[in-house]
Amino acid sequence: MDCDILVIGAGILGLSSAYHLKMRNPGKRVVVIERLSGAGQGNSAKSAGGLRNVFTSETNFLLADSGIDFYSHLERDAGFDLKLHRNGYLWLLSESQYSSLKKLLDKMKNRGIETRLFEEEELKRMIPDLVLSFPSGDEEAIMMGLEPIHVGVFGPKCGGLDADSLVKSYESMFLGMGGEIFYNTEAERLVLEPERRLDITGEPFVWQKSLVNGARTNLGEIKADTTIVTAGIWSEKLLNPIGFDVVNKPKKRQVFVFKDLKLQNLQELKGLNESEALPLTLLPKAGIYLKSEASEGSIWLGCSDHLGREFEVEDDPQPEREFYARNIYDVLVKYFPCFKDLREVNMWAGHYAINTVDGIPIVEPAPGMIYAGATSGSGLMKGDALGRIVTSNYMGEDEAELYGGRKFKVSNIGISNRKVAREGFVI
Ligand SMILES: Cc1cc2nc3c(=O)[nH]c(=O)nc-3n(C[C@H](O)[C@H](O)[C@H](O)COP(=O)(O)OP(=O)(O)OC[C@H]3O[C@@H](n4cnc5c(N)ncnc54)[C@H](O)[C@@H]3O)c2cc1C
Repeated sequence: MDCDILVIGAGILGLSSAYHLKMRNPGKRVVVIERLSGAGQGNSAKSAGGLRNVFTSETNFLLADSGIDFYSHLERDAGFDLKLHRNGYLWLLSESQYSSLKKLLDKMKNRGIETRLFEEEELKRMIPDLVLSFPSGDEEAIMMGLEPIHVGVFGPKCGGLDADSLVKSYESMFLGMGGEIFYNTEAERLVLEPERRLDITGEPFVWQKSLVNGARTNLGEIKADTTIVTAGIWSEKLLNPIGFDVVNKPKKRQVFVFKDLKLQNLQELKGLNESEALPLTLLPKAGIYLKSEASEGSIWLGCSDHLGREFEVEDDPQPEREFYARNIYDVLVKYFPCFKDLREVNMWAGHYAINTVDGIPIVEPAPGMIYAGATSGSGLMKGDALGRIVTSNYMGEDEAELYGGRKFKVSNIGISNRKVAREGFVI
C-alpha cells in the first residue's frame, strides 16, 4: 500500500495528528494503523481524564490550556458528548509546601492562570469529610510524616472528560474527512531507505542519505512519504532500531474506583463547583489524587509514585491491590476517613511515557518521519495542541497555531533546538 502520510498508533496523539494533518491536507492520503482492535486502547482510554491548565511551565500551559478550549468547542459547537466538566483541580498543601510553591503560584497568576486560594476554614466548610490536621499524639500520622493541610489551591478552569469519547470524536472527524484507519495492524519495523536508490544489496549505506519510507506491518509493507510515530510507550520499539532516541521512560500508573454510600458526601459539596462534586483533589503526601466521577457516582483514585516504582513496560499491566492496601490506604484514610474499610469496585493500570529530563512532550522530525510522544502523564489534555504541532512540522511551518489563535514555536518542543522550562507542578 502507498500513502502520503502513515500514522502509527491510534491513541490521542495519533488520531489528533491524523485529524489535523487531513484537515489541512485534504488531498493527501492519510492512513492510521493501530495494532489493537479499536481507538485509544493503548494508554489513552486508561487515563483518568483530568484536564488542567495550572502549570508552571509556559509550554505546558499553552499546550493544555488550548486543548481545554478546543475540547469545549467540540462539545459546544460540534455536538460531541465528551462528558466535559469544569469541577476544578484542588491541590491540598501543607504550610511548608505552600511556602515553597508560593512564588511559582504568584508567577502563574501574573501570566493569567486563574487560581483561588482556600484557607483552612473554607476547606472545612466545603469538604466536611476532609481531615485537615491530626491530634498531636497521632503516632501513625507522625510515623508517615503527614502534615496538616494549610491551604487549598483551586484551578477553576481545570476539570475532566471521558477519554474514550474524546479519542472517538477525533476518530469520527478523521474518518468523516476521508481518512483511513486499519485496526489490528501492527508496524513491526520502520522501513529505512536511501533517498536515491541505487539497487545495490545492502542499501542504505552510511554514505547515502537515508530516510524513513513507511513501515513493515503484519499485513505487508506500507510505503509513505512521511511516517508519524505516535505509538506511545511502544514508540521506542520502532525507533530504537533506527537509532532515534524517544527520550522517555515508561512508568506504571493505576486507577482504583470506589462506589459506596459512605462516599456520598463527596458528590454533594457546596461552593467548589457547579456539579457539587469533588474536584480532582491532590493530597499533600504520596502523590495521591482522587476525583468524583459523577457520571457513574464513583470516586476514582490514583497515585503517582516515583522513586521505588521501576521504569518498565508491562505487556498486560495489572493494577496492584496490595499496593493500594499497603501504600495508599493508610495515608488516604487519615485525610479522608470515609474510605475506611472500603474495597474498590474496579481498577486498571497503564503507563505514563515520562520525559525524565523536563517533563514536557516532544515533537521531533527526522528524515521521512515525525515522532510525537513523551507526554509525561498529560497527553490527553495536550493531545490537540500536539496534533497541530505535528501538522505544522509536516508542513514546514516554524509556528503552529493552537486553538484560539495562540502561536507556538514548533522547534521549542523538538529535541535539537529545545526551549522549555522544566515543569514545577508535577502530579
Ligand atoms: C492511569 C493513567 C492516568 C492518566 N491520567 C491522565 C489525565 O488525567 N490526564 C491526561 O491528560 N493524561 C493522563 N494520562 C496520560 C495519557 O493517558 C497519555 O499521555 C496519553 O494517552 C498518551 O497518548 P498516546 O497517543 O501517546 O499513547 P497511547 O494512547 O498509548 O497510543 C499509542 C497507540 O499506539 C499503538 N501502537 C503501539 N505500537 C504500535 C505498533 N507497532 N503498530 C501499531 N500500533 C501501535 C498502541 O496500541 C496504542 O493504541 C494517564 C495515563 C494513565 C496510564
